[in-house]
Amino acid sequence: MTATRHDAPATVEVHGVHKWYGAHRVLNGVDLTVRPGEVTVVLGPSGSGKSTLLRVVNHLEKPETGHVSLDGEPIGVRRQGTRFRELSERAILAQRSRIGFVFQNFNLFPHLTVLDNVAAAPVATGRLPKPEALQLARDLLGRVGLADRAAAYPRQLSGGQQQRVAIARALALRPGVILFDEPTSALDPELVGEVLSVIKDLATSGTTLVIVTHEIGFAREIADRVVFMDGGRIVEQGPPAEVLDRPRHARTRDFLSKVL
Ligand code: ADP
Ligand code: MG
Repeated sequence: MTATRHDAPATVEVHGVHKWYGAHRVLNGVDLTVRPGEVTVVLGPSGSGKSTLLRVVNHLEKPETGHVSLDGEPIGVRRQGTRFRELSERAILAQRSRIGFVFQNFNLFPHLTVLDNVAAAPVATGRLPKPEALQLARDLLGRVGLADRAAAYPRQLSGGQQQRVAIARALALRPGVILFDEPTSALDPELVGEVLSVIKDLATSGTTLVIVTHEIGFAREIADRVVFMDGGRIVEQGPPAEVLDRPRHARTRDFLSKVL
């Protein structure tokens, strides 16, 4: 959506990632590069490994082989000569705080107000003193159009509003990249638009985004790159006009014919 910079290290680099659950291989050699400011939309059938890929990027799952780096820095491990050593839990948490994650089911803290949901992470991580975190939270709620709901609890909001709070909460740590896992799949159809519109604003303002979604029209509108996954692999990727309108692989064509 915005001009990408090719001189800086990739914001996210996934290289040769394989991930198994027991005998079941869920990621089968995934390579993915996300450049600063780029909007990547990941498509693919259920079970193709999309969520696992996002969880590997965030180091919520550790891949069996391969590695992930963030701004050129390996995630979860430290290079020592030719070997890699596990980072401490604390160092991993610090890396994870540079990545925003927005889930299908919002995952807000039910016992906290909307304002405190957004302010919680900057305070808990020691990034900001409480008054500044609250001010930032107010600003971010304004940005997602919910300034007037700061004192409400999540259960008092619609799904679309809850998801907009979740996006504000992800922004509160000023992440270098935000990962979205089917952010509108749990919403009633009439609430999808307000969430997509907030994500579109982020894309336009140059935030680096990786979005798993089945909203093909939205992908066409905002993606710099569309990635199609099937069976734990990236089958094809490219600009939306190529992957969505002139897919090269039969599996991509088959998938698109079902969701379009
Ligand atoms: P997608 O998001 O594309 O639907 P997932 O990454 O969630 O796919 O899952 C890919 C495959 O891995 C599926 O077959 C799923 O059943 C399996 N899977 C996902 N998470 C686990 C887990 N924690 N344990 C075992 N199998 C899992
Ligand atoms: Mg999924």
